[in-house]
Amino acid sequence: MSDCIFCRIIAGEIPGKKIYEDDELLAFHDVTPQAPVHFLVIPKRHIKNIMELESGDSSLIGRLLYRAQALAAELGCGEKGARFVINCKSDGGQTVDHLHCHVLGGRPLDWPPG
Ligand code: AMP
Repeated sequence: MSDCIFCRIIAGEIPGKKIYEDDELLAFHDVTPQAPVHFLVIPKRHIKNIMELESGDSSLIGRLLYRAQALAAELGCGEKGARFVINCKSDGGQTVDHLHCHVLGGRPLDWPPG
């Protein structure tokens, strides 16, 4: 989608600090990091949010989560862990309508969120 900021990062139309890319996934550092490690993993296919998933997407989402934890470990979160967050729609705090998994780590994180 031409008006989607994450689709534009995938297309190379706007810069992103990419850390992983394959045929179906992209990971890049969040532009406003909330922790020493804060990156996003997204499907290249434009899926608006987690509630738009179809049953056939389950393996894609499995690979997305696998990649999220593998990258978290590579970036130093293997021992102490990290938080894996998928915000959805307005009540979920989603601001970019392209499915993404946040990975935050490198410091202790409070729970529950405000
Ligand atoms: P959410 O609120 O869950 O939709 O998260 C969207 C995230 O995308 C926020 O943490 C933003 O800081 C991040 N973001 C927005 N634009 C960019 C960009 N151009 N490059 C990297 N991260 C971005």
